[in-house]
Amino acid sequence: MMVVMKSNASQDQIEKVVDAIQSNGLTPHLSVGVDHTVIGAIGESHVVPLETFELLDGVEQVVRISRPYKLASREFQPADSIFPLDGFSIGGEEIPIIAGPCAVENHDQLLEAAMAVRKVGANALRGGVFKPRTSPYSFQGLGKEGLEFMKEAREQTGMPLVVEITSQSQVELLCEYVDVLQVGARNMQNFPLLRALGETHTPVLLKRGMSATIQELLMSAEYILSGGNERVILCERGIRTFETSTRNTTDINAVPVLKSLTHLPVVLDPSHSTGNVDFVPAVARAAIAAGADGLIVEVHPHPAEALSDGKQSLTPEKFAEMVKQVDAVARAVGRKLVSVQETSEAQA
Ligand code: PEP
Ligand code: MN
Repeated sequence: MMVVMKSNASQDQIEKVVDAIQSNGLTPHLSVGVDHTVIGAIGESHVVPLETFELLDGVEQVVRISRPYKLASREFQPADSIFPLDGFSIGGEEIPIIAGPCAVENHDQLLEAAMAVRKVGANALRGGVFKPRTSPYSFQGLGKEGLEFMKEAREQTGMPLVVEITSQSQVELLCEYVDVLQVGARNMQNFPLLRALGETHTPVLLKRGMSATIQELLMSAEYILSGGNERVILCERGIRTFETSTRNTTDINAVPVLKSLTHLPVVLDPSHSTGNVDFVPAVARAAIAAGADGLIVEVHPHPAEALSDGKQSLTPEKFAEMVKQVDAVARAVGRKLVSVQETSEAQA
């Protein structure tokens, strides 16, 4: 449930509500808004009568949240969450693009990719160093060495880094280097990992599992939020269906559905959702038209030589073309890309 305090509620009154929540075996979550402080009471709250809190001083109203995910719900927070990252925000009117190779393969590949995507409008750099491959014989990623290359790319381009985490044993190392921790589709329900991420202060980009429902995605986000980490970005990356002409099926519905159910930012990954470079720009445009707050896209300087996901990786030239198209769609729906000015300057 959610306790909405009066706009003039004192600190002492807020503390008394927090104490009452705790003494009823629930966990308080404070959200300080412009007008009101809202305190979430998370746990088995259905057994606690509303009056327990309604009668306390400074309380305006007590509302039950009907969804199984509480902190992620729009009922708990009606306004969109906007998270500032390095140099831009995600979740607001401006749309950032995260781009880069599937995997960090070597120094020159990464630096070339980073410079190329930055020049034409990327705002953050992606690159996996721990790769969750279907085959144990496939390239597994460079680990710490790859993080050193990512760090250099960050220094040279100014872009924040988005890197996948595959195990809670990597938390300490990755948090030292990266700005956003990506949870891949295969780990969406790795609950010990989600709990470990809840204890960090690093933003998390949580990808939808390939057979996960939207509700399951939101429940996974709730694991992270309930641990105290408020910065969760959701990512639609395609789901498994009977269709085999693309790697996955982009659930474009997920974008407006998620936007209606949650205040968290929603991004879309047209690379994994199609698995085919020819379809990536069209699906990227569709995502923005449907209301996505950002894109995460695979770009490789030489896709034919890529050690993973080359078939779905854009060349920097195709990426530049896609950015222009996506910007036109963003403007058509009353938004715009982050740093478009800089992008067009770089292209001129
Ligand atoms: C990736 O981003 O390279 C990746 C492995 O994605 P997903 O977890 O969506 O398959
Ligand atoms: Mn990939």
